[in-house]
Amino acid sequence: MAYDVVVIGQGAAGSAALYHLARRGKRVLGLERFTAGHDRASSHGQTRIIRLGYFEHPSYVPLVRSAYAMWHDLQSASGETLLHITGIAEMGHPDSELVRGTLASSRQHDLPHDILDAKELMRRYPAFNLPDDFVAVMQPDGGYVMAERAVATHLRLAKDLGADIRQGERVIAIEPHGDGVRIVMQDETFDAGSVIVAAGAWAKTLLPDLPVNLSATRQALMWFDPADPAPFREPHFPVWMLESEYGIHYGFPFSDDEGLKIAKHHHAQEVVDAETYDRNVNAKDGFLIRQAISQFMPQANGAARASKTCLYTMTDDGDFILDRVPGAPQIVIASPCSGHGFKFSPVIGEVLADLATSGETKHDVARFGLGRF
Ligand SMILES: Cc1cc2nc3c(=O)[nH]c(=O)nc-3n(C[C@H](O)[C@H](O)[C@H](O)COP(=O)(O)OP(=O)(O)OC[C@H]3O[C@@H](n4cnc5c(N)ncnc54)[C@H](O)[C@@H]3O)c2cc1C
Repeated sequence: MAYDVVVIGQGAAGSAALYHLARRGKRVLGLERFTAGHDRASSHGQTRIIRLGYFEHPSYVPLVRSAYAMWHDLQSASGETLLHITGIAEMGHPDSELVRGTLASSRQHDLPHDILDAKELMRRYPAFNLPDDFVAVMQPDGGYVMAERAVATHLRLAKDLGADIRQGERVIAIEPHGDGVRIVMQDETFDAGSVIVAAGAWAKTLLPDLPVNLSATRQALMWFDPADPAPFREPHFPVWMLESEYGIHYGFPFSDDEGLKIAKHHHAQEVVDAETYDRNVNAKDGFLIRQAISQFMPQANGAARASKTCLYTMTDDGDFILDRVPGAPQIVIASPCSGHGFKFSPVIGEVLADLATSGETKHDVARFGLGRF
């Protein structure tokens, strides 16, 4: 059977693209080499931060605004609760990239926010222990999205709308032919009008000539069990990010299910092979995470309940890639990771569906073109 669009990968990006294509009545096939929700790539786990005041660059704000609206739409369409608004505290020295960038985005886009000194932050949230010269930018819109549940929801709705969703199916090659494309598997091929490559860290194995460097970096996460979880529960504790001499750490309120989730953004910046990387969390990983919490959140620095690894797929500038491949516009590439892509999933799904079907989108994705490399 020929398809309008084939989507490779069923992480955050691929699952959302499948839903948006199926909603438009397209004949769509989704191929995933493992299972949805597997833990070898980037989209597993319960939670991901969503925040409006984008410290990375103010130009992300309109896209994340669209994403907020679309998370609400997805909740209505599915009956699932996916978005939790807790408020976010982004903390550090006033000159830190995190604080300066969050303020720049907030001011440029007139976002609601408060600036608290360390004393006031600790009065509101007693679990933190901040130096006197730190400040916090508080944003009421911050919170988290339910990650694996969101992927499963996009896939479920796509399937209900007629998408052909297959797992345990590894794509070996993509061959443009004529205006369309042939997808080569071990024992069969599929023909389609276009293909969306949402293969995360594996994108370059499918598109080796792509004029861009993509590095898989190994990340580690830990879940702590504070002796007294009360100060770490909502509403006494928000979603947070904190920049210090040890890097940017982040975390979520305590949940009985999971404990207290804390990690270091970019972790050790260790570039790895996505096939063979060490998926165990070691003593050095624990040290990099505890370094900050022993100082800034000492009551959390006790027993760890669980730990896990994950991959960031990094571009050289940390921005996404959402574009058609030069010379082969029937191939659309999505690498919305660099460690901060999940919150955008619904809008990225719409952009990918736009690019794969009409080559254009109403969303401003100029920042994410391949031409910049
Ligand atoms: C620890 C961690 C914390 C994060 N925190 C946040 C956060 O707080 N907020 C936020 O917004 N974002 C966050 N992110 C980033 C976000 O999770 C990613 O941007 C997002 O999950 C990337 O999704 P993806 O679909 O591009 O890639 P992936 O999830 O990697 O999915 C790619 C899929 O393609 C499949 N695949 C690969 N090759 C093939 C093939 N040949 N054939 C078939 N299938 C194939 C893979 O098996 C995989 O399932 C975090 C990421 C990590 C790792």
